[in-house]
Amino acid sequence: MATSTLTAQENAILDAVPHDLYIGGEWRSASGGGTIAVEDPSTGATLCEVADATIEDAKAALDAAVAAGDAWRATAPRERSDVLRAAYELIAARTDDLALLMTLEMGKPISESKAEITYANNFLRWYAEEAVRINGRFTVNESGAGRVLTMKQAIGPCLFITPWNFPLAMGTRKIGPAVAAGCTMVVKPAKQTPLSMLALAQILEEAGLPGGVLNVITAERSGETMAPLIDDPRTRKLSFTGSTEVGRALIKQAAQQVLKVSMELGGNAPFLVFADADVDAAVDGAMIAKMRNLGEACTSANRFHVHESLAAQFAEKLAARMGALAIGRGTEDGVAVGPLINDDAVEKVHELVQDARDRGATVLTGGEAVDGPGHFYRPTVLVDVPDDARLLKEEIFGPVAPINTFSDEDEAIAKANDTEFGLVAYVYTSDLNRAFRVSERLESGMIGLNQGLVSNAGAPFGGVKQSGFGREGGPEGMEEYLETKYLAMNVGS
Ligand code: NAP
Repeated sequence: MATSTLTAQENAILDAVPHDLYIGGEWRSASGGGTIAVEDPSTGATLCEVADATIEDAKAALDAAVAAGDAWRATAPRERSDVLRAAYELIAARTDDLALLMTLEMGKPISESKAEITYANNFLRWYAEEAVRINGRFTVNESGAGRVLTMKQAIGPCLFITPWNFPLAMGTRKIGPAVAAGCTMVVKPAKQTPLSMLALAQILEEAGLPGGVLNVITAERSGETMAPLIDDPRTRKLSFTGSTEVGRALIKQAAQQVLKVSMELGGNAPFLVFADADVDAAVDGAMIAKMRNLGEACTSANRFHVHESLAAQFAEKLAARMGALAIGRGTEDGVAVGPLINDDAVEKVHELVQDARDRGATVLTGGEAVDGPGHFYRPTVLVDVPDDARLLKEEIFGPVAPINTFSDEDEAIAKANDTEFGLVAYVYTSDLNRAFRVSERLESGMIGLNQGLVSNAGAPFGGVKQSGFGREGGPEGMEEYLETKYLAMNVGS
């Protein structure tokens, strides 16, 4: 049961979501009887408890995915498509309830939660459309004798591990294409935000997804619980979204079985504003790229490199916009900035801000945490941030915009590429030639050109360097769940 400090509507939303494990089409409590507390980051209060899976539960989830595998991969593509489309319609109809649930467990304002739900749901719609377009190819051998036929087949049982910052979208980006391809799966959401994933499983069940295709386990000790599944020879694919540190460890683990792996890892996105940019448009884009999800996004603009001729103007305008944002519980009207996920996040953000100050940066707005309860940090803009500041090197994951200057294009590109990460970069310029020149030289999987948002269900999301490999979204996202088989045919000659 939900706690009594919540409103009746909040309690009703929490009570409507299963808190159990979803294995083989059944909701069941953890075999050890354990539970995990889910916290409201805006108050620190416990919202509810969810099941804490044991290793036996995790193995049972994989057993269920394996058992459902043959039947599911043999279903008609239209049947898989229809399930995804039905789930899309249900989510669209329940956006308000799902948004409240997400805000309760993750903290972001309701408007942000609604935006995530729309984004997340688009993956179900997009892959509902793609399920019926899985094609191979047919060619005549170059010698003229014999033929080549290729076919695409579902890769098999998958493991998905997702983070807390986008509790639904990081699930649908994997589940949508996997279901469309005919794969079965075990999903483990982050323990801070398991409720949106449990709600998604409930909706997919209602949409007609057969038991065992999707299995969801929640676990306190994620490494211990997932390791036996990664080591299990029946597993065919591991797709992970989370930190580079954990991703690195999972790649090593997956190497034992030479698992097909997708890694959506951390970022350190540069936001470049060239001398010919429209400053107001750049500030609008910066607000989106920085403040979407309170800065707790892998795509968040982590550092602003602005041409020295525009830096003062850009900083002043950005500070005015950031400083005016209302801070509060995400459920309250007008709130634009909710809490960070926990106290550690607040401490880390403040440590990075303090480091920049110690190295000579000046705070134009913010620069401090908000007194509790909850884990709030004021939107912050800093200028004169030196090149060696940790803010420019580490993923901030909070509402902090450090501004650093450059004097020419080569310097801007060198600064942008001076990182082990390579997820996304933002470029503001009115010169088309510069836009292409710079885009081609940036070491990053995605580029936002005169726009502060790249996420799009129909486009390949993913990084280079230590931001990972593999793509989610678009036809590329479907390929992650398909194997190519080639038939050499002695025919036609
Ligand atoms: P995290 O600490 O790496 O955790 C991500 C997931 O991995 C959680 O479900 C976590 O479970 C699980 N996990 C942790 N250790 C594990 C282990 N040893 N074995 C198996 N699973 C393990 O990351 P986070 O703090 O949740 O998320 C923030 C990070 O995600 C940031 O670095 C961000 O950039 C990145 N991210 C990347 C993308 C992208 O598309 N590139 C998108 C969103 C986020 P528990 O937390 O329950 O233990």
